[in-house]
Amino acid sequence: MITSTHSSTLADRAGLCVVCHHRVFVNRSVTLENIQCFGFDMDYTMAMYKSPDYESMGFELIRDRMVSVGYPHELLRYTYDPSFPTGLVIDTKFGNLLKVDSNGNVLVCSHGFHILKGEDVHKYYPNKFIQRDDTDRFYILNTLYNLSETYFYSCLVDFFTRCTRYTNLLKGFQHGDLFMSYRSMFQDARDTVDFIHDSGILKDRTIKNLDRYVIKEPNLPVLLTRIKVVAKVFLATNSDYSYTEAIMKYLLENKSGSPKKPWRSFFDLIVVDTKKPLFFAEGTVLRQVDTNTGKLRIGTYTGDLQHGTVYSGGSSDVICDLLDVRGKNILYVGDHIFGDILKSKKRQGWRTFLVVPELTKELQVWDKKKNLFEELKRLDIFLAELYNSTLSRCFCPRGLLLCVCVCVCVQVLTYRMDMSYGQMGSLLRSGARQTLFASQLMRYADLYSSTCINLLHYPFNYLFMAPPVLVSPPSSPPPTHAYACACTANQSVFFHNVSRSFSFVLHVLSTGWQRITSSTDRSDPSERERERDLCDNWLMIK
Ligand SMILES: [Mg+2]
Repeated sequence: MITSTHSSTLADRAGLCVVCHHRVFVNRSVTLENIQCFGFDMDYTMAMYKSPDYESMGFELIRDRMVSVGYPHELLRYTYDPSFPTGLVIDTKFGNLLKVDSNGNVLVCSHGFHILKGEDVHKYYPNKFIQRDDTDRFYILNTLYNLSETYFYSCLVDFFTRCTRYTNLLKGFQHGDLFMSYRSMFQDARDTVDFIHDSGILKDRTIKNLDRYVIKEPNLPVLLTRIKVVAKVFLATNSDYSYTEAIMKYLLENKSGSPKKPWRSFFDLIVVDTKKPLFFAEGTVLRQVDTNTGKLRIGTYTGDLQHGTVYSGGSSDVICDLLDVRGKNILYVGDHIFGDILKSKKRQGWRTFLVVPELTKELQVWDKKKNLFEELKRLDIFLAELYNSTLSRCFCPRGLLLCVCVCVCVQVLTYRMDMSYGQMGSLLRSGARQTLFASQLMRYADLYSSTCINLLHYPFNYLFMAPPVLVSPPSSPPPTHAYACACTANQSVFFHNVSRSFSFVLHVLSTGWQRITSSTDRSDPSERERERDLCDNWLMIK
């Protein structure tokens, strides 16, 4: 995770002045000198697509196809909005888009474009918790490829929720004798995404307009050339040969200036159609590709590695055999937390480098809003001290009140931080809590950065040193006994202590502090309800 500790790397101490957005972040130490082989994924790793043009094209293809198979033509009015982040989860039962932490606690919940708060979230998820292992119901949107469908699914829910022809039900929409469940809509959208990928429409449009959709990174040939001096290099992509050739030619073959070097000569081994994550398990049949026709040779390839030959299929074990390298001596660079990183780490023990293009924006906000992060940290420590000094002794109303004020302050700050990133907040955090994506990143990616090109800012004998951390970092006891909605400045908060049966109203100021406007005992439940309804938000302590 990005923290001030992590950003202060060995690079600083070694005199390497690596600016923040060029930095490679470290979860576990990696000695580059020991890496004998570098493997690369292609899409969104070596080939970065231009955002939002590329996602916008994907969105339009999905939208148009859905309309052509019978969805209402009013959907054509929607255009792509790039503000939705990756790493979200779709609840196919209730049609909600969720941001969750590593344990499945719901951090943010939206229905269409409407962000749900407090009680509305509890209505769907009574403990604000999901069983995220239920992959049949919850679909995790892992990569930038998912951005178009994430947004399209929100458009679908938004349209049917607003459309007067349809009646809103808990699990979908009714129109006459027709029931549209959220699940069937999700499945239709998923099938459409598979269709535009498998039929080649997306690829054809990309190849026809490479300048518009693909970033021509001038330092990519430099990076591969430098790596090849010290280690072996392979490319393992799920794309087919003809698409891979068009993209890599565009990225690596210089049309003007220096003498032309064929793109295949940058690699020791090229494997297309890898079918990751299957590639990191039993894999598929390894075949040779006829580079003249793009067709596959029949039979399984069993010979030695032939330079300049392109292979199709195979498995990570076959790659290790052909290149004569093993486990920890391989650093694999990819953008897919599950297909590239989790599987190569868990199944093969490879060292891993996750490309997270969204880090560029995360770092910009981090830099701009540093004061908010610092304030949150300060409040966290203050709250821990308060709990120790106040709650460990006998009941102290003033101490408890102060705790509540700090809790509200933390919520205000968290909300302000989240809004700095966009409607669904940061990819990595919600306040001080890590998202599911962040926890997977920390667990499976040894290194991570916004682009693989950032490796160029470090020598190839460099030691990426992980910062020393305690197994369980010190923090305040989580206020698990407190329930509250996110609140913003100039709002009122109704506070109620259930066990002590007293209530009062707080006003949240823009400075993040509160003043108490009333603190009368409301033992009458109906009076309490009325007071609560008049407030913007509520907070309850058991
Ligand atoms: Mg990829």
